[in-house]
This record gives sequence, structure tokens and C-alpha cells, in this order.
Amino acid sequence: MFENLQSQPADKILALMQMYKDDPRETKVDLGVGVYKDATGLTPVMRAVKAAEQQIWQAQDTKVYTGLAGDPAFADAMIALVLGDAVPRATVAAAATPGGTGAVRQAFEMVRMAKPDARVFVSDPTWPNHLSILKYLDIEVVPYRYFDDETRGVDFDGMMADLKTAHAGDVILLHGCCHNPTGANLNASQWDDVIKVLQDTGATPMIDIAYQGFGDGLDADAAATRKLVASVPECLIAASCSKNFGIYRERTGLLMAVAADPAAHALNQATLAFLNRQNFSFPPDHGARIVTTILNDDALRADWMAELEEVRGAMLGLRTQLAGELQRLSGSDRFGFLGQHRGMFSRLGTSPEKVEELRVKHGIYMVGDSRMNIAGLNTDSVPILAAAIIDVGI
Ligand code: PMP
Repeated sequence: MFENLQSQPADKILALMQMYKDDPRETKVDLGVGVYKDATGLTPVMRAVKAAEQQIWQAQDTKVYTGLAGDPAFADAMIALVLGDAVPRATVAAAATPGGTGAVRQAFEMVRMAKPDARVFVSDPTWPNHLSILKYLDIEVVPYRYFDDETRGVDFDGMMADLKTAHAGDVILLHGCCHNPTGANLNASQWDDVIKVLQDTGATPMIDIAYQGFGDGLDADAAATRKLVASVPECLIAASCSKNFGIYRERTGLLMAVAADPAAHALNQATLAFLNRQNFSFPPDHGARIVTTILNDDALRADWMAELEEVRGAMLGLRTQLAGELQRLSGSDRFGFLGQHRGMFSRLGTSPEKVEELRVKHGIYMVGDSRMNIAGLNTDSVPILAAAIIDVGI
């Protein structure tokens, strides 16, 4: 029977990683895969994570199943971290998932269960996995304009015009902060306008928040999400702990569903547990336990926040250095957007041919759509990248 299978497109980023590995040049620079790297190119285990793991190892006396929605303490801690006190806890249904990807997948499945013909509005561009999961689930996708190729900021007028065509029963997917792949984000007043469109159209928002703490800070990065959930009757929020806790392989995420009333809340909670049961039964626990331990211990939490600030500061420093270097070399401000973008990524906004030229001629590896992982740089490689960008005529 398996001869009937059709081969699936290979993951472009993974293919790029392999090419990078095979490149013998010493000055090569990897700006491809989306993981944080420190100045030495390592993705370290955070101090608080190590300490929490030690505590867990010492204290844990069973590894029996948790609950279908995971440990309620994890949900409580994460809801507080992401949503603060924006909405009453009793209105938020939540289920632990394998990573943020699991949360996104379960969210789309919930949408499809609730309304099989729902359309999902996604930014153009968006994280490619959004599109591939939606396609896999046979959910209709409506792209909305997002990135302005000229300014490398948000095409806000285009975005608004497209979102206004949504109606009740549609879902509008938004990146809570640190947009992947562009790095271009809405400001506070633009978020207010998006909220107004949601209220006017009656469309249901879904927020994917995978980089809280990587942009302007833990609370600043969640501010739009918090305001939005408090302003609409219902909302889905898919949160990932992979980046801000640096626990990528532990597969730690939480799907939250905010309900308008208690009856809807009970149904949401039961649905989330049901969906977990169908797909993988009990969610992974180790990463969730690490996160819960850190968030509920004042000293560990303070240390985690301090290290996360170091990570955020390092990325901001690289952005500023790169924007400055490019200003110096080009004698223009046209790369100023790099300092304004937030999060791990920036879309350079150039053609696949130029991206290829950067790779072939200079050993600089970025995704074909010109997404760069800023954390793949260090203070030594910034000038190399800047010179290469000017050399290929971007
Ligand atoms: N959403 C977005 C926008 C992302 O960039 C990522 C990470 N690449 C995720 C969700 C989920 O990541 P993970 O499954 O590793 O937690």
C-alpha cells in the first residue's frame, strides 16, 4: 500500500543546514535555522533550566501520567506569564501541547471541529508551518498583506483592507510579537486598529506567541495579546516555551482558549482534552515541569528573566551593529529597518538570486525569502555580512 504515498517537499531550512555543514570556508555564517545562539555559536541550556532540572530530578518520585491537558500548575503559570490578569482565569481553557507547533495544530483542529468551513486569515508571509498544517487539515487559507517590500515594515493599509473582508466564523491568525519571518511588527496604535476590525467583523482571533521576551521584554511583548484578549469575546492563543526557555527539544507549549461565558469555557476545556487524547494522549511533561518550577520559584524566575534579558540585549546589540555598519558602508539609511525589527528574525527583502549569491560568493546562509536569523551573527561576523550585502548590490 505504501507505494501510493507521494513524496513531500523537503524542509528548505534543514537542507540549508546541511549545505552549511558541508561548506569548508572558515568565514561562513549560518543565519538559517531559527534557534538562539550565543556569541560562540552555542545554544546554551539556560542557568535556571539546569537548576530546575536538578530540583525535579531530586524531588520527583513518579513519572505516572499527568492529565490529558497536562499539569494544571503549568497552565496556571503560563496563563499568568502570557495573559497576566487581562481576563479572569476561569474563562481560560488550556492544554499543554508538544511545543508551540502542537498548540498551533490543536488550535486549527479545534477551529475545524467548531466550523468545518472556517477560513483562516494568515499574514503574507507567515511561518511556513502555519501554511503546511492548514493545508494538511484542508482548511481554507486567506492571505492578508503584511510586509512592505519597500520600507521593510508592515504594509498596514494593505493589512487593514484585507482583514476587513473577514467575517464572523473566520479566524484571523496574528503573531503576538517578533513576527516570523519578517521581524516587522505592529505598534500599539496599529494593534488597537486590528482589535477594532476584530470587533467590527466578529472574526475570531488566534494569536501565535513563540518569542515572548525576545523583542522588547516579557511584558511588552505580551501587551498586545493581553489587550486583544480583553477586548473580544473569544480567542485562541498558542504559546511556545521553546525559545524563551531555550528548551527546544523538550517540546513545551500551551494552547489557551478564552471563552465568553462559563458554559463555553467548560466546552472549550473538554474539547482541548479530547483533541490531545486523539492526537497523542498525554502531553510531554518534562519541559512543562521545568517551566512551572522556574516560574513558581522567585530566585529561579529572577535568574531566568535576567538571562532572557541578556539574550534579548545581545540580539538588539547585533541589530544595532549591523544597521550601523550598513549605514557606514552604503552611506544611506536604507538598512535602518534592521534596528527597528524585533525578535530573532529580519527579512532583508531581496531576491532569491541575491540570497544565492550571498551563499555562493560569501558563504552566508539565509533562507531563500531573505530571512536572517540575527542570533546567528556575532560581533566579528556582522562586518562580514554587511560587506557581503553591499558587495552583491542589495
Ligand atoms: N510559531 C512560530 C511563529 C514559530 O516561529 C515557532 C518556532 N519556529 C513556533 C510557533 C513553534 O515552535 P516549537 O514547536 O518549537 O515550540
